[in-house]
Amino acid sequence: MADYKVVFRSDGTTNGEHRLLWSPKSPALLTAVQVSRNTQTATAFLQVKIRNVSDETIRSVGCSATLFYSDGTNEVVEFDDLDVDLEQTAEKPLKAQKLSRGDVEAADVILTNVTTDEQKWKAEQDPIDVPKLDPLCFSKRAMRRRHQLLSRSGGNKRAWNRPVFDSEGWWVCSCGQLNVGRTACCECGLNKSLLLSTEDETELLASADERDDAIYQKAAILSEHTGDEKAMSQAIELFRQIPGWKDADKRLTACNEAVSANKTRLKRYIAIGAVVVVATALLAVFVIAPAITRETKYGYVQGHLSRNDETTYNYLRELKGSGYKDSAELYSKLFDWRFEIGYSSSHSYRSIKKGNEWPDEQTIRDDDRDNSTDHERYPVYLYVRATSGPPRSTKRLKISKQIYGSDGSTWGWVNTNLGLGGARDLSCYDIKSDGTVLSGELYKCTPGTQNLWSDEGCGCKVKVTDYDSGEVIYEGEAIKR
Ligand SMILES: [Zn+2]
Repeated sequence: MADYKVVFRSDGTTNGEHRLLWSPKSPALLTAVQVSRNTQTATAFLQVKIRNVSDETIRSVGCSATLFYSDGTNEVVEFDDLDVDLEQTAEKPLKAQKLSRGDVEAADVILTNVTTDEQKWKAEQDPIDVPKLDPLCFSKRAMRRRHQLLSRSGGNKRAWNRPVFDSEGWWVCSCGQLNVGRTACCECGLNKSLLLSTEDETELLASADERDDAIYQKAAILSEHTGDEKAMSQAIELFRQIPGWKDADKRLTACNEAVSANKTRLKRYIAIGAVVVVATALLAVFVIAPAITRETKYGYVQGHLSRNDETTYNYLRELKGSGYKDSAELYSKLFDWRFEIGYSSSHSYRSIKKGNEWPDEQTIRDDDRDNSTDHERYPVYLYVRATSGPPRSTKRLKISKQIYGSDGSTWGWVNTNLGLGGARDLSCYDIKSDGTVLSGELYKCTPGTQNLWSDEGCGCKVKVTDYDSGEVIYEGEAIKR
């Protein structure tokens, strides 16, 4: 069987000499160039992979390759692939080209012509590097608003911190992907006009004010109905969304106090009611206590779909037991334990409200390392919260990490203490079902010893397990290797 050895390779990660270039307005983008040699016959093959970055189907392509030989000479070879049939956004290798000499050491390939159903493109300008984008330098509030606006369209959150590079007939998305004549990015799916409409910091701040104020007004009206349990829980939910806006924090506290006052009052009524029932029963032997029907209970549940509502919890447990309607599904949605794990850089950690807010960053990006102004230490923070679970409960989780050095070395999984101090087994944490956020330092790197920030190729994996059952709940990476 023939054995092949890769003697040259260039792809999207290659910098400097022999990096991949793009011929302006070409509907196709080179994604890899490779030369492989048959170890027995020494015959070499050129392999080229392309991606369709346009909104048309590519039928054929023509390439020009400069081959560099071991004796210092080079040669230009032209070739076509007339049978590509590549749908938009898809990627595929072209037919491998057998080369005349086996001592090829490197190859530079450019696309010279591309035919789609709509057009015949021919290279007219010199190939260029796809522009790299610097992150937007916005305030945290403006950036959070941008994320809110973009999150409605899905897409990859990591892609939201850069501006679009908009040129005639082509553009580079916030995620770094080149697009030709497309309205939505072929990589992350975000719309170019939407991205462009969220690149003005002043407008974003105005939009954030408008949003927060609208929520505030709604919550303020609801919060006036202190006796209405449903209105109060809605007001609480809304005030929670706008921490720090006007007197929202103060009003949130007032709502919570009103709710507990209502509960105390209710308990008193029930106690009085019980006395009345006993008295009535003594008077009339055939009194039938009005039983609460399943419909009524289900109706209550529908109006109080909150994981913190104990009545909803008790009713749903009952209804689930008798298989009533979608009660099992509702129960699972609200009260089965689920968790969310997040990460942030130290900048975010300092400004975030502990126990309450969730960080915007979920994975530490490379540019965070570069932009870090803290030259002494570069800590990464971990966040854990329950997104559902039984009311007033806690779940014990065990958190461990695995750090990789730049050479791939690792110490295996070790327990984490999140820098929170204390004397007990510090890898165990009791997470509250009400959504309170646990956060703490996952690890920090000190320059000169083990500087994970500045060395590319380092990383930190995180594993979260259920302390009692040992079930792995989450496994992910704070920093990608
Ligand atoms: Zn994109």
